[in-house]
Amino acid sequence: MLDLLIIGGGPAAISCGLVLSSAKEKEYMQHKKVAMIAYNKARDLDVAVLNNLFGVPSNTKGKELIASELERLNSFNFVEQLPQNPIEEISEKDGGFEVKTAENTYLAKEVVLAIGHSPKIEKIKGLNTYLTPHTKSLEGQKKFALTNNNLQIKEGLYVAGLTSDCESQAAIASGTGAVVAVQLMTKWNNGTFDHHHDK
Ligand SMILES: Cc1cc2nc3c(=O)[nH]c(=O)nc-3n(C[C@H](O)[C@H](O)[C@H](O)COP(=O)(O)OP(=O)(O)OC[C@H]3O[C@@H](n4cnc5c(N)ncnc54)[C@H](O)[C@@H]3O)c2cc1C
Repeated sequence: MLDLLIIGGGPAAISCGLVLSSAKEKEYMQHKKVAMIAYNKARDLDVAVLNNLFGVPSNTKGKELIASELERLNSFNFVEQLPQNPIEEISEKDGGFEVKTAENTYLAKEVVLAIGHSPKIEKIKGLNTYLTPHTKSLEGQKKFALTNNNLQIKEGLYVAGLTSDCESQAAIASGTGAVVAVQLMTKWNNGTFDHHHDK
């Protein structure tokens, strides 16, 4: 069973993976099995040109930024990249969660859902109970989020980025991914707060 499955391939999911990866030498991170399904369809940033993202030069293409951030994530060699297929179902099993794509089934103790706010997330089985209209979308847009309390749907099940009902700015989406990473690190550190800074 995986310790953590991060689902999504946008700023929220990648940022969560980056913060966890940067902390991989910590004692409580040893032997943690973390994987990601970086499905790459319907990713908002793929069509964006960025002129307002902190730390990112103007006129950066969102698609190029995602590619280089995924490369950076993979260079840590901590988060295993799983086949990039959309998830179709999530349910509770063996004290964790079972996640199904058309081709594979994964078991994970904890799951981060960073799957955007498209109406397509309505079709994922097992999420209906948590589905709620996105409250920070432009008028007339039909978008969805998943009900959560401080980025947790329930014990072990987290949301990040647009799925959490955050505002659609890349800095905000990636920030929520980082928050979830710190929440997980603190949990794995037996509840004592922890984060990771390099000097
Ligand atoms: C045209 C456009 C221009 C924009 N311009 C800017 C800008 O200038 N500045 C700015 O800050 N923000 C901009 N944004 C907003 C920014 O792109 C989003 O706020 C940000 O990408 C949200 O990140 P996210 O990770 O929450 O979601 P997303 O980037 O949408 O990522 C969601 C991920 O989940 C995956 N996914 C979806 N369904 C499934 C499934 N069933 N199973 C597995 N994975 C799934 C998708 O493939 C994707 O990888 C723009 C957005 C658009 C659409």
